[in-house]
Amino acid sequence: MAEEEVKSVKPGVVQLPYRWSIGEAGLKFFQGMKNKKIMGTKCSKCGMVLVPGRKFCAKCFVDILDWVEVSDEGTLEAWTLVTYPFIEQPAEPPYIIARIKLDGADSSFYHYIGGIDLSDLDKVKKQIKIGAKVRAVWKDKTVGEMMDIKYFELV
Ligand SMILES: [Zn+2]
Repeated sequence: MAEEEVKSVKPGVVQLPYRWSIGEAGLKFFQGMKNKKIMGTKCSKCGMVLVPGRKFCAKCFVDILDWVEVSDEGTLEAWTLVTYPFIEQPAEPPYIIARIKLDGADSSFYHYIGGIDLSDLDKVKKQIKIGAKVRAVWKDKTVGEMMDIKYFELV
């Protein structure tokens, strides 16, 4: 029996409506955001502060009960300029997404870097350096979501 080569399949769209529960830890984290506070949890075994706060330490496999507020300022660990549009993007390109180590946290936090003219990439590269200090720019009216912080700005 001869095998037929499959060169393509008919393209289609799969839609899967869903709701994702933020859980107990997510609720506490987003309540903090609503009050312009970034909340993390501190592991009683290793002492790591994880942000956003979570129910257990993935390193020690122990439940975490202690909540701590961390700074809304931190250090830029990595960044990238997104110029390509794709489905379900939270913002219109171009924008900068960054990994930030907030002061008082041991894990990284992901958010936008803003307040920068993105029209000239060479200029952007000169402005933004790994290790730069950044701080959150909060919306005036917060509702308890990640975008209560508009973006992080270079200090
Ligand atoms: Zn731990």
